[in-house]
Amino acid sequence: MARAYNFNAGPAALPEEVLLKAQKEFLDFEGSHMSVMELSHRSKEYSQVHDKANALLRELMEIPENYEILLLQGGASLQFSMVPLNLLDRNLGASYILTGSWSEKAVKEAKRIGPVEIAASTKASGYHAIPPLANIHWNKETSYVHLTSNNTIYGTQWQEYPQTGHIPLIADMSSDIMSKKIDVSRFGLIYAGAQKNLGPSGVTVVIIRKDLIKKDESLPTMLSYHTHASSGSLYNTPPTLAIYLLSLVLEWTKDKGGVSQIEKLNQQKAKLIYDAIDESNGFYTGHADRDSRSNMNITFTLPSSELTDKFLQEAADEGFIGLSGHRSVGGCRASIYNAVPHEHCLALAEFMKKFKNTNS
Ligand code: PMP
Repeated sequence: MARAYNFNAGPAALPEEVLLKAQKEFLDFEGSHMSVMELSHRSKEYSQVHDKANALLRELMEIPENYEILLLQGGASLQFSMVPLNLLDRNLGASYILTGSWSEKAVKEAKRIGPVEIAASTKASGYHAIPPLANIHWNKETSYVHLTSNNTIYGTQWQEYPQTGHIPLIADMSSDIMSKKIDVSRFGLIYAGAQKNLGPSGVTVVIIRKDLIKKDESLPTMLSYHTHASSGSLYNTPPTLAIYLLSLVLEWTKDKGGVSQIEKLNQQKAKLIYDAIDESNGFYTGHADRDSRSNMNITFTLPSSELTDKFLQEAADEGFIGLSGHRSVGGCRASIYNAVPHEHCLALAEFMKKFKNTNS
């Protein structure tokens, strides 16, 4: 069976090898005569899955020993609340950089917990860009600085992160975690829903510097990082199937040559589609400023809404899935996460060129 050209923004394409392996093991996981979904989360077999996911995350992202890895539920959206609940000192407030709708949502939740200052925002210019580092200003005594490393809806991505010194830098990396090498030690906390680069929905990865984990008896148990850190993310029943699939995606990432190799492949894939935009003599217009372009979500428009509709219809007829822009910005968006094959990006770039030649 041919696989769909899946450009969904998340949940998104998973590696075919991962799906085949999961299929093979579905009824009988490693000779247990049970599906991985049927194992007790306290069993030896499941512990191995859980430990493998943790160990591979640490290895692939080169996560230092002074960081804890947590596998949680509630999506990145719950982190919008857990981050301020655990880390926002109401006397100091917290600083947020606004680069799109997800940052706005993070701010909305933080404001329920304590004072928030906006350290920079590109809202006035329609979120076309990441702010220049020189334009970002935070209160020297703020609890933390929060940013969204890749803006899934607008198609912008940070190329270089601010130096925050002793202030913890916190990043929502939902849509670009493990797509490129990063220095984890630059961050106090990183969080990401798995459903783009890491696996299916249902598990959220949190990487937190150990000194930021505090026991706060006033917090609801499940909302405290301390609870999950002190129980190896097994305080309650974890999403076992999602973590199993996460472990398979991590194995696949390692087999591909690890994050630096994935980064190279991602650059090549993105270039195919950005070239189709840049060489179209203005037929396609990229939403993001060039120096803020995302290698994960490529957003563009056509000269009219009629042509956009025609493009999306013909693309769908040719088997391209998920190319409509987010409902809040319209236009088109191709999400090309780690698991989207090079050939699928090539097929899209060729379709774009063909469509331009017959419609301009
Ligand atoms: N942050 C970003 C950057 C996202 O792209 C998304 C989901 N598309 C979210 C947060 C919300 O994630 P979740 O649905 O896992 O809560």
